Amino acid sequence: MTTGYVYHELFGWHDTGTSVGLLPANPAAGLQPFIHFENAETKRRLHELIVVSGLIDKLERIRPVHATEEQILRVHTEDHLERIKAESLLPKGGDAGDGVSPFGHGGYDIAALAAGGVIAAVEAMLNGRVDNAYALVRPPGHHAVPASGMGFCVFNNLAIAARHAREVFGVGRIGVVDWDVHHGNGTQTAFYDDPDVLTISLHQNNVFPPNSGAVEERGEGAGLGYAVNVPLPGGTGDGGYLAAMDEVVVPALKRFNPELILVASGFDASAMDPLARQMLTTDGYRALTLRLMEVAEEVCDGRIAMSHEGGYSPVYVPFCGLAVMEALAGEEPFTDPFLPVVSGFAGHELQPHQKEVIERVAGLVAEIAPAPGGRPSPVSG
Ligand SMILES: [Zn+2]
Repeated sequence: MTTGYVYHELFGWHDTGTSVGLLPANPAAGLQPFIHFENAETKRRLHELIVVSGLIDKLERIRPVHATEEQILRVHTEDHLERIKAESLLPKGGDAGDGVSPFGHGGYDIAALAAGGVIAAVEAMLNGRVDNAYALVRPPGHHAVPASGMGFCVFNNLAIAARHAREVFGVGRIGVVDWDVHHGNGTQTAFYDDPDVLTISLHQNNVFPPNSGAVEERGEGAGLGYAVNVPLPGGTGDGGYLAAMDEVVVPALKRFNPELILVASGFDASAMDPLARQMLTTDGYRALTLRLMEVAEEVCDGRIAMSHEGGYSPVYVPFCGLAVMEALAGEEPFTDPFLPVVSGFAGHELQPHQKEVIERVAGLVAEIAPAPGGRPSPVSG
C-alpha cells in the first residue's frame, strides 16, 4: 500500500493575524488581540508528529503545485477569484468573504497552493503513483461557496480537485464524505444539482454555518437525493459516528458506486476541540477510516484522497490525523497518550437520540437510485 502525502511549510505561513478566536480584535468591545482559532499550530504539529513518529518514511511525498486560475474557476466565480487576488496584494491582506476569515499579504498564493495540493494528491492517485492520499493543506476549503470564501476557507480545495478529476481525468461519479464537525456547505452547494457527485456530511447539528446541513437538504433538480446530511446531536462519540458510517455512509456509497472517494477530513469532532461538542477519539477516527477503505476497496479499487479541513485542538489534532494516515498507509498505531482520558468520557456508545437521526437519514439513502454496478444494499431502519 502506497499512501501519498502532501504538505508544504508555506501552509503554516497563511496568516490569520491577531483575531480573538474568530472575531477581529476590538478594544472598545473588550476584544483583546490574541490568535485566530484557525492558526498554523494544529497542522504544523500534525506534520511534525508524522515526522517524529517515523510515519513520514512510509509515505510518498507529493509536491503541491499552485492551482491555476482555470482550475479555481471551475468552482468559483471570477469576482471571488479577482477579489482574493486584489486583497492579497494589500499590505495587510484581506478577508475571504465573511469577516471572520482573514488572510495576510500574499494569501492568494498560499490558498492556490492548498487547492493545488489536493489536486496533486488526486492526480497522483489517478495516475497510479499512490493507492490513496492525504493532503495536509491550509487554509481549509469546505465552507467556501462558488461566490465567496467563509468559515476560515478561501477556495474550496476539495471541490476544485473533484472538478479537475471530472474534467481532466474523465472520472464519472465521485463520492464525497465530510467528517469535519461543521456542515460541508460549500462542497454541497458546488454540486447541489449534480447527480454525479454524492456529498455526504456528518456534522454536529446546526453549529456552522447557522441553519445549514439539515436532513431535508437533499439536492435539487437532477441532483435531488445526491446531497446527504447527518446532523448528529452534540455529544456524539465514537459509537454514534460509527453507526452513522455503517447505516448511512457505507450503504450510500455502495448504491452510488463512485469511481473515486474524496474526504473532507476535519478533526474538530474530536473530544478536545474548542469549537464543537463531539467526542471522537483516535480509535474512532481510525475505525471510520478503515470502514471507508473497505467500501472503497469494494467500489473503486481503494481510491480515497483526503483533504484536511478544520480541527482546533493543537494537542489532539496531531494524534487524530496521525491515526487516519496510519490507517490509510496500513501501518501500526502509534500510541495516543490521550486515549485513556478521552475514551473514558461517558456516552461514547450510540444513544437513542442519535440513533433516531441516523435512522431518518438511512431511510432516505434507500431512495438513491443504484448506479451502474452499484448495489441496492439493504438499509436498516
Ligand atoms: Zn470545521
